[in-house]
Amino acid sequence: MIQIDKLVRSKRKTLSLIVETDGTLTVRAPLRMKAADIRAFLEAKSPWILRKQAEARKAAPAQHRYVDGETFLYLGKQVPLRFVRDRKPALVLDRAFKLAQSAQPQAESAFQAWYKKQARAVLTERAGYFARKHGFEIEKIRITSARTRWGSCSAKKTLSFTWRLVMAPPEVVDYVVVHELCHLRELNHSRAFWAQVEAILPDYKGKRKWLKENGNLLVL
Ligand SMILES: [Zn+2]
Repeated sequence: MIQIDKLVRSKRKTLSLIVETDGTLTVRAPLRMKAADIRAFLEAKSPWILRKQAEARKAAPAQHRYVDGETFLYLGKQVPLRFVRDRKPALVLDRAFKLAQSAQPQAESAFQAWYKKQARAVLTERAGYFARKHGFEIEKIRITSARTRWGSCSAKKTLSFTWRLVMAPPEVVDYVVVHELCHLRELNHSRAFWAQVEAILPDYKGKRKWLKENGNLLVL
């Protein structure tokens, strides 16, 4: 489903779609056009929109400014940032990211700490799930800050994942988890390795492609 980042209604007669340079979608619509009609139009145009968004985002990876309304990726969804009165903890996810006004100067580190914490919980849960289901043994899970190395696996059965991964959609997170788990059995990228990945996630290729094309978006 296509997300509308900004909807502007005016006395125009037709609908127009603008994919902004940062990949967000602005829709300009006639005053009385029904939401369902806008939706239907968006769905019909979705291949074009997705292609333009991918192009825009590749050209200009997000650089956050930590201003009200700016969006942040979490598990594949763009979540808006809202500033709130001072509170503890300074940052929570409650439909929106709610950040205490006074924490704005440290916004980046607050987000980073938040993502790290979520990454530990999400990745521990997902790795545990696949390990139990497919009989893998994990010794430890480490969370790193790597930028392009999404995960790794050591001979000591330690799986490492970058916290940036929890910005990606859940099925992409699962792909990286399964990829690293399979390295516990095959320490290379041989045919045998990919066969193991495929046996667990038959549609893994699309997720791998998603990471190649969108990995540069998983930044603060
Ligand atoms: Zn690998």
